[in-house]
Amino acid sequence: MPSRTAIHEAGHALACVLLNVGINFASVEPDGDRDGWVEHVAVTGARPTRAQAMKEATICVAGEAAEVMSFGDATGLRSDLACLLDLERRYGGPLRLDAQRQARALLLTHGRELLAAARDLDTFGTLDEADVRTAMESVGWRDPRLSLLDGRWRG
Ligand SMILES: [Zn+2]
Repeated sequence: MPSRTAIHEAGHALACVLLNVGINFASVEPDGDRDGWVEHVAVTGARPTRAQAMKEATICVAGEAAEVMSFGDATGLRSDLACLLDLERRYGGPLRLDAQRQARALLLTHGRELLAAARDLDTFGTLDEADVRTAMESVGWRDPRLSLLDGRWRG
């Protein structure tokens, strides 16, 4: 079983890929008081739409959702909670419950991809977006956008 930190960060990273948000990197190498983190391309500005805010909120709670799915509980969520509260303040309404529901749905249908990405995080420490996609593809995942561009599924 991958480490709890790797599962948590893989949850954030998978949500980014599945919601078409670019990842700069995902890491489980400790830095200061962080055990790991995912740096993704900005989704929202000062006044986000509901769709933008939901997308970022889902990424934000996906670490917790991945832990709960894998271990039955979650720890160390302070920075994720701060991110969610800041987002709700900028959006001007609650997002948490809908974001948790969406994160759970995304991860429950991509359990093997979650484990594969977490295993690679434990092995290599830091992954970029191509690495995360490679991990997901190693268990059969295909980006639906590629099939649209090609007009066919890639082997
Ligand atoms: Zn997190």
